[in-house]
Formats: sequence, structure tokens, C-alpha cells
Amino acid sequence: MSELHPKLQAVFEEVSHRNGGEKEFHQAVFEVLQSLGPVVEKHPEYADNAIIRRLCEPERQIIFRVPWVDDTGHVQINRGFRVEFNSALGPYKGGLRFHPSVYLGIVKFLGFEQIFKNALTGLPIGGGKGGSDFDPKGRSDAEIMRFCQSFMTELYRHIGEYTDVPAGDIGVGTREIGYLFGQYKRITNRYESGVLTGKGLTWGGSRVRTEATGYGTVFFVDEILQSRGQSFDGKRVVVSGSGNVAIYAIEKVHALGGIVVACSDSGGYVVDEKGIDLDLLKEVKEVQRARIDAYAEARGGATQFVSGGSVWNVACDIALPCATQNEVSGDDARALIESGCRIVAEGANMPCTPEAVKLFDQAGVTFAPGKAVNAGGVATSALEMQQNASRDSWTFDDTEGRLAGIMRRIHDRCLTTADEYDQPGNYVAGANIAGFTQVADAMLALGLI
Ligand code: NDP
Repeated sequence: MSELHPKLQAVFEEVSHRNGGEKEFHQAVFEVLQSLGPVVEKHPEYADNAIIRRLCEPERQIIFRVPWVDDTGHVQINRGFRVEFNSALGPYKGGLRFHPSVYLGIVKFLGFEQIFKNALTGLPIGGGKGGSDFDPKGRSDAEIMRFCQSFMTELYRHIGEYTDVPAGDIGVGTREIGYLFGQYKRITNRYESGVLTGKGLTWGGSRVRTEATGYGTVFFVDEILQSRGQSFDGKRVVVSGSGNVAIYAIEKVHALGGIVVACSDSGGYVVDEKGIDLDLLKEVKEVQRARIDAYAEARGGATQFVSGGSVWNVACDIALPCATQNEVSGDDARALIESGCRIVAEGANMPCTPEAVKLFDQAGVTFAPGKAVNAGGVATSALEMQQNASRDSWTFDDTEGRLAGIMRRIHDRCLTTADEYDQPGNYVAGANIAGFTQVADAMLALGLI
């Protein structure tokens, strides 16, 4: 890892000390601080007012017990989290993740990233994140419902359309948001649509929210390509994961003329030289909720399934990591560079390790960070909140057009800010500095809170 500005080094040491063992949170903080050296030089008022130190300390952290009964009648106990990180720009906003790996360090890394991502959208939303170490895999629909109801029985007292607005993330889709919303409505006796986003279309959801993170990721890459006079046409693309973000990234790549030749889940990856069959992938993942090898089996000889292993060994022009944090190691980065990959854009949150990012930089591979690339999801959640507030419902084309416009503005803002700080073409610096300065200026304006 590179050196930090001395003032930022002191902040980082304090963060590491106060948040012992939370390695993903340390990584996310370090990644942002690395970009802020020139900012603290140019704007001493940020350090004078302890803005960066305040930003690294969540406004509120809630940890709670989630008891529920499984289908065999046994009591299960999970841990629930909601970290309300920063509300300088609007109500806390960020998803809920249900995955066995969830602990405070993961929720804080995601919540910290969310502050800057949400600022980049230009919409009035603060940053937060939550979730549970509950593992939905293999659980029946009734178990998922009972877990969600128990989770909301505590969470409801902390959220609200003007306070904190959760959404989905890994393991939390429309089904889970439905059970959570139902329980919130039941406890509060209020049909408060704006309290959760990612709702179903018939009960307050927004068109394009399901597709938004994947589509937004591809719109962002399309902006990169267009800024170089190129397009997706004929480009070979590899996507990791086969969940919400991955599926809709694949859909949009194909719509723009690219070809996605591989995708994965935690059990392995499939290579389909003719292009991933999206209808089949949706059937396997969204309807059957099955493993990726079921896709290969259904597709027959056309597809190769590799159990375990790394999807990044498949040669491509563009890599879109859309699964989870730290999934692209140094070795994966080397494999991608050797195969001729020219653009890596993070659909997931922090999927590339610091070593991988450094290698991409050294090899001249364009690297675009998640807080800019995958911001289309939360941006469309904010559009869902707008529709809820005005009791309105926009068409698919209208909403998609707004999403495309937001992604274009985020892209341009990254480049303009990178230029302003003499780092042309550096999307990491541009995203971190643009997101940070917007939140920092709001915090200065709001006084010591
Ligand atoms: P889903 O739960 O829908 O899908 C996650 C996918 O990633 C699954 O295919 C899953 O495979 C795979 N995956 C998860 N963990 C691992 C792992 N350890 N190794 C390999 N594969 C893994 O989640 P989303 O698509 O919603 O989220 C994906 C990423 O995008 C996350 O980083 C999330 O934070 C980020 N994101 C999501 C947004 C959204 O709107 N949904 C918005 C912005 C960012 P398996 O089923 O085998 O676990």
C-alpha cells in the first residue's frame, strides 16, 4: 500500500486502533484516504474541523439479536446490524446483506463506501448499511419470512422515510424486501412506501430498480468506451457472480453489442463462448434459485463448467466483478492483464484487492471503482423514493433514461475532478475526491454534529 499524507496517516492509525479486527473497514478507509492527500493540502479547513475523523466514525451503530424458529421447530439466533454512517446529505440509505460472512467490519466497510457513492449520485441521500449473518441458502420460503419478520421487529424503530431507508444487497431481493415491508407496515400501522426501496412493482416499487445496478455498471463502462471513441460492439466480457447485479449487467452488455462469455457463483464458473444464455440463467438463478452448474447441465455441450477456480482465467477485453468483496486477487489481476483485458469496472463493492488495483494501474488497465460504477442501484432507489413521495409511477423508458443520465454525470464528474487534481483519467481519485468534498462541505455547513 502506498504512503498516506501525514495528517491522514494519523487518522488511519486512529481508525485501525478504534476498530480493531475490522479489516474490510480498514481497507475501505485506507482506499479513500489514499486519494485525499491533495485535498487536505488545498483545503486545510477539512482537517481543522476534524471532518475526516468524524466521517470515519458512524453516527450510530445498532447491533441486535434476531431469534426465529426453523421448519423443524428449533430456535435459531442470528445477529442483526444497522450502521447509520452519515446523514449530512439526506436520510441514511444503503442495503441489507444476508450472508454468513456478515459482521460489523463488513457492514462498516459497506456503509463507509456508501457515503461517497450516494454523494456521487447527486441525490439527497446519506450513507448507511446493514444486514445479518443469516444464511438464506437452503432455507424454505417460510423460514426466510420468519427471519425477515424477526429482523424487522427490531429494525423498525430505527428506520423511516426521513431517517433511514434500507434496500437489498447480497441475499436480499424483492422477496425479502416484501417480508420486511409487510412486517414494518404491520407493526407501525403505516403504509410508508418510502421506508424501504427495492419493493415489488405492484406495491410501491420502481421500474428499473431490479435492473439498475447491473445496467448502471454497463452504462458507466459505455461512457468510458465512448470517451475513447469506442463501443461495446464485439467486446468480450467476463462477469463474476450470477446474482442481481451480474444478471442485469449481462443483459445490458448483450443489448449494447458485447458478448459475455463467462459468469460464476461461489461454486464455480461457466464458460459459454457463444454468449451466456440469459433466459436460461434467469430461470436457473431467479426462478429455481439453483447453482450455476445447473445452467451448464441444461445448456449441454455448448458450455463448460469449472468447479471452484477463478473466472478471471477466462480471457476478456472487459472484466466486471459483480459478486463480492476481495474476489479479484493479485493472481487474478495478473491473469486478466496477460489475457489482454483493458477495462476493469467494479459492479460489486470493493471486489478488487489493493494488490489487484495496483497491478491494473501499473499495467495501464483502466480501473473504475465500485462507488462510482455501481451507484446506479442506489440512485434508482432514490428515484423510487421520489415516486413514492409524489404517489407517482414512471415508465420503464423514463426511469432508464434518468439512470443513464445519472451514470453519465457520475462518469464526467470523476474525470473532471481527477483533472482538477492533476490526475487525468484516474477514476479512483476522481470518485473519492468528488464524493468526499461534497459530504465534507455539507458537514462544514451543518456545524459540529
Ligand atoms: P446477490 O445475492 O444477488 O448475488 C451475489 C452473487 O455473488 C451470487 O452469484 C453469489 O454466489 C456470488 N457470491 C457471493 N459471495 C461470493 C463469494 N464469496 N465467492 C464467489 N461468489 C460469491 O447479490 P447482488 O448481486 O445484489 O450483489 C453483488 C455485489 O454487488 C455485492 O458486492 C453488493 O454489495 C454489490 N451491490 C449490489 C447492489 C444491488 O442493487 N443489489 C447495489 C450496489 C452494489 P452464491 O449464490 O454462490 O453465493
